[in-house]
Amino acid sequence: MPAASASNILSFEDARRAIEAQAALVQAPGNEFVELLAAAGRVLEEQLLADRDLPPFPRSTRDGYAVRSSDLTQLSATLDVIGEIKAGEKLDNLPASIGSGQAVSIMTGAPVPAGADAVVMVEQTTRHGDHVEIARSVSTGENIVPRGAEAQRGKVLVDRGDRLTDAALALAASAGKSRLQVYKRPRVAVLTTGDEIVDVGATPGPTQIRNSNSYSLAAQILGAGGQPVLLPVAPDEPQALRQLIELGLKSDLLLLTGGVSMGRYDLVEQVLSEMHAEFFFTGAKIQPGRPVVFGKCGADQHGAGAPAREGATAPPVGTYFFGLPGNPVSTMVTFELFARPILEALSGQSPHKLIFLHARLKSEIRVKTGLTRFLPAVLSGEFADSQVELVAWQGSGDIAATARANCYAVIPPDRGHIPAGDWIAVMLR
Ligand code: AMP
Ligand code: MG
Repeated sequence: MPAASASNILSFEDARRAIEAQAALVQAPGNEFVELLAAAGRVLEEQLLADRDLPPFPRSTRDGYAVRSSDLTQLSATLDVIGEIKAGEKLDNLPASIGSGQAVSIMTGAPVPAGADAVVMVEQTTRHGDHVEIARSVSTGENIVPRGAEAQRGKVLVDRGDRLTDAALALAASAGKSRLQVYKRPRVAVLTTGDEIVDVGATPGPTQIRNSNSYSLAAQILGAGGQPVLLPVAPDEPQALRQLIELGLKSDLLLLTGGVSMGRYDLVEQVLSEMHAEFFFTGAKIQPGRPVVFGKCGADQHGAGAPAREGATAPPVGTYFFGLPGNPVSTMVTFELFARPILEALSGQSPHKLIFLHARLKSEIRVKTGLTRFLPAVLSGEFADSQVELVAWQGSGDIAATARANCYAVIPPDRGHIPAGDWIAVMLR
């Protein structure tokens, strides 16, 4: 039985848990090969293995002298310099082994020769012709990264489901991968609703509003690794709304905006329940974004839903949808909190927790208790001195104030007053 009419309003934490539980069940829509650079920001579908030890030889991390630490136990020692090794030096050119009382001049990134077990920085030495004077002791292993210490051949460098960050790309390059197998980007349909909404190219009448939500959502979808598919604006009329929802359900994820509040023309939940959707929640105790709806609509359920999704492999799994509240800041916040983890799962990304930073509050906050709040704020300062301050705003329709914010201040539901100077959680935007 669809639980549509029974409202199910969860705390923020419970709503997140519901999302995480569903995210764990999601299947990504296939894979593709892309060039190394095009893989930046994508999610790896294969395991990236080290094709050789990293580093492949004991690497000097300094310009200096390769030495035997046992020669340097006195206050000062003078060693014979028997040669020089630069980065990329052929193995044949290395001395067979350096003996007691000997040193080799060595450059950063060069292989440390056999016999040596430490490198002394050039700054700590004095060269006299064929000799070098070193007035300090060194410990075994100093300034040398042993062969394979960073990764041994065959070891997993980047795992399936990891996003390809700058460091991951660097690892792929050092493992000789010029192409990578990544997950396909899921297609995310965006369906904005409302009789008052006109698109950006149209001239709005005096009481009409331009559609901004489709564009903020498209930007968020792109940032989270999805491909936005913008549908036409749906009127507040069940028949037309249903047709567009059916179209949207052919994508890998459907995001609706507007039409989920208590107004007479808020039809999204009603139409989705007529389509036998399953609702995981129909609201969250947050602000902004309270009326947010999360559910799934079976592709062929009861013969009443949308046709099966193109290229769908698994049995009728249905399509996840979100009814995001229409107020633009609510739309942005609820995407971040709830839609993003599902989209990331559809992108093949391994689940991860929502991480908040912490900063000192600049001016006190007074709010009503009972809701977890995500209020547009400015994080400033640097090093240990970060401070956060709410931006003045006109509520969840105020995109101008939100554009001036660089984060959301996170206020837990039990705190009605937070004095200036307290540490609070902050979610970057
Ligand atoms: P609703 O959730 O449909 O009640 O809409 C809440 C508020 O958000 C109303 O003021 C709408 O005009 C506004 N709104 C809804 N959809 C959009 C949109 N796509 N772009 C800009 N504002 C919107
Ligand atoms: Mg509306």
